[in-house]
Amino acid sequence: MHYKRILLKLSGEALMGNRQYGIDPERLQEYAQEIKEIIEKGVQVAIVIGGGNIFRGVAGASRGMDRVQGDHMGMLATVINGLALQSAMEDEGIPTRLQSAIKINEVAEPFIRRKAIRHLEKGRVVIFGGGTGNPYFTTDSAAVLRAIEIHADVILKGTRVDGIYSSDPEKDTTATKFDSISFDDVLRKGLKVMDTTAFTLSQENELPIIVFDMNTKGNLMKVVSGENIGTKVNL
Ligand code: UDP
Repeated sequence: MHYKRILLKLSGEALMGNRQYGIDPERLQEYAQEIKEIIEKGVQVAIVIGGGNIFRGVAGASRGMDRVQGDHMGMLATVINGLALQSAMEDEGIPTRLQSAIKINEVAEPFIRRKAIRHLEKGRVVIFGGGTGNPYFTTDSAAVLRAIEIHADVILKGTRVDGIYSSDPEKDTTATKFDSISFDDVLRKGLKVMDTTAFTLSQENELPIIVFDMNTKGNLMKVVSGENIGTKVNL
C-alpha cells in the first residue's frame, strides 16, 4: 500500500446518504465495508467525522442562538456520528475505538494521543469525535490537527465530488478537474478545499490532502494504493 497511516475525514452530510437529515444506515455500512478492505491490507486508519447532518453552530447562530452553545451542540453531533460509525464497523468485525475531544467518559475514551497511536499500531480504527473540543473550529481543522499529531502520511477527504475543480461542478458545466494542485494555487485561485484555518495548518505542516469521491465503491482502496484518482494537494 502506498500509504501506511491515513486520516480519513468524513463529513456529517456524507452519512445522510439520500436523506435530508440524520444518518443513513446503508451508507454507514458501505463505508464500514470500504474501510475494512484497507484495514485488511494493513493500513492504519484514523477517522475524523463531522456533524453537519445533525447540527452546525453557525446555523444555530443565524437563528439567534449563542454561537458557542451551538458549537457545543455541533461537537456533540460528531460524537453521535462517531458512535454510529463505530457500531457499523463493529458489525463488520473491525476493532474500533472512539476518542472524544470533549470528556464524555461513559460513552467514549478521552482523546489521548499516545493511546490513539497505540490503537492504530494494534490495527484498531480510531474515530476522533468532538472535533477539536473548541468552538469556532470545524471538523476539517480537527482532521488536520489529529493527522499531524498521529503522524499520518496523508489526509483523505472523502466527499461526493471526485476532486477539486476550477469552479463548482454542481453549478458550472465548464468546470475542469485538477489531478494535483499546490497549496499556494488553491489559495491564489480561491478554491474551496477546506476552511482556511484547516487548510493553512495542513500547508504549514507539509501534510498532503487528497480530495476524492468516497461514494464510489473501491475508491478508498484506489487512493490508498496510490492510484491517481481525486485531486492531491501538495506543497
Ligand atoms: N465544531 C466545533 N469545534 C470543532 C469542530 C466542530 O465547534 O472543533 C462544531 C461546529 O458547530 C460545527 C459542528 O461542530 O459546525 C459540526 O462540524 P462540521 O461543520 O465541521 O461538520 P461537517 O461539515 O464535516 O459535517
